[in-house]
Amino acid sequence: MVGMSDGAPEGMMRAMRLVDPLPATERPLQLVELPIPSPGPGEVLIRVEACGVCHTDLHTVEGDLDPHRESVIPGHQIVGEIAAFGDWPGGDRPDYPAADGRPLELGERVGVPWLWRTDGQCRFCRRGQENLCEHALFTGYDVDGGYAEYHVASAPFVYRLPSVDAEGHPIPATSLAPLLCAGVIGYRCLRLAGVVGDDHGLPGRPAPFEPGDEPVPRPSAFGAARARPSMRVARLRSVAGAIREVGGSPSAGGPLDMVDGILAEELDEPAGRLGLFGFGAAAHLCLQIAVSRGWQVYVFTRSEEHRRLARELGAVWAGASGQRPGAPAEAARQTPGQLSLNGRDDAMRAAAAGDETWLDAAIVFAPAGELALEALKVVDKAGIVALGGIHSSPIPPIDYPVIYDERVLRSVANSTRRDAIELLRTAAAIPVRTEVETFPLEQANDVLIALKESRIRGAAVLQIG
Ligand SMILES: [Zn+2]
Ligand SMILES: [Zn+2]
Repeated sequence: MVGMSDGAPEGMMRAMRLVDPLPATERPLQLVELPIPSPGPGEVLIRVEACGVCHTDLHTVEGDLDPHRESVIPGHQIVGEIAAFGDWPGGDRPDYPAADGRPLELGERVGVPWLWRTDGQCRFCRRGQENLCEHALFTGYDVDGGYAEYHVASAPFVYRLPSVDAEGHPIPATSLAPLLCAGVIGYRCLRLAGVVGDDHGLPGRPAPFEPGDEPVPRPSAFGAARARPSMRVARLRSVAGAIREVGGSPSAGGPLDMVDGILAEELDEPAGRLGLFGFGAAAHLCLQIAVSRGWQVYVFTRSEEHRRLARELGAVWAGASGQRPGAPAEAARQTPGQLSLNGRDDAMRAAAAGDETWLDAAIVFAPAGELALEALKVVDKAGIVALGGIHSSPIPPIDYPVIYDERVLRSVANSTRRDAIELLRTAAAIPVRTEVETFPLEQANDVLIALKESRIRGAAVLQIG
């Protein structure tokens, strides 16, 4: 048992607050001085070090998402340290466990994502889909977020973050911030597209989340299905060893060469092929996770700078939407009409000619509905297209052949604590490199404009404390 929250910081804090949603170019966020908020029972006060800027903030600020309150401080990729614990009614407060089930300590570094709190009891929470909770509250939307010097969080939805890396070097808060939404939502997109997790990316009923759950890492559905080649590899290696043992076959083109050739092809086979449409903060993190799992990643983006970054991070191909994956980058971009609606026939003919690559899955991050259609046209039979945005322009009519052959089109909504815990562990293990541009708090309006105009390389982060 711990004492009351004496020592909590008092006084005023700076924040960028939204009152009236407007186009970002009209600079709708105002720099204001507000009293430092006080945490209630089960809540913690966080001194904010950094807060990532997400496309969802842009949709909030511009009013694409219906406002839920009169004014709000946006920001839901918060990194900071525990500054105070909320009082507990009646005196001594119990421990406040974080999402990992272990009690939070004063001064330790934590992160807060988009999912601020759930009710824990609706039918979705009960069946492990807390991302769909009927009464979820979202950070920087239903409750004030991280474009401020302090933030109040709900302890069971807070994640412990490292302060130093494996070599003991300090990790800047700004490099962790993008993991909390771009990373977490990106990870859920990978799960729903069948790249990570064990459910083939298809709708299922996971077990409800219990704080302290340590999810057991399991190979992805594709990964498991593709485990057979590695058994073939093992057998081929033993055949090659046997040939060597009986004196080998030194002549070029002999049995040993043939086995080596087959071996090389087997090792070359990717776990799957993933397309990413739009290359912002989430995509640049997804790419690294997918590559680490042996997937080949194809990136579709109109920005040459983004294509360069994609290749640098391991994409096998980067081009414009409307291009066939794998098409030479200099090939003329097809007009959307050429591939639309009945474009499947053209694409199939091209594939039959042997110069086309089909993708096993695709994730659309850009909020443009026509990209859902473009993505469906480049996924293979039974391929999955996951839509990662919280908002999108309308999806054009889908001609039936485009979605036939058991292709799946699905949206991705919010994320669960299991997603966040798995993502943070995965990011540390790879380790994922976050490409970040940092700005001071007062420049939040400028950052949103730059984000809208796709001028950010990687992720944008406000450096606050
Ligand atoms: Zn619920
Ligand atoms: Zn976000």
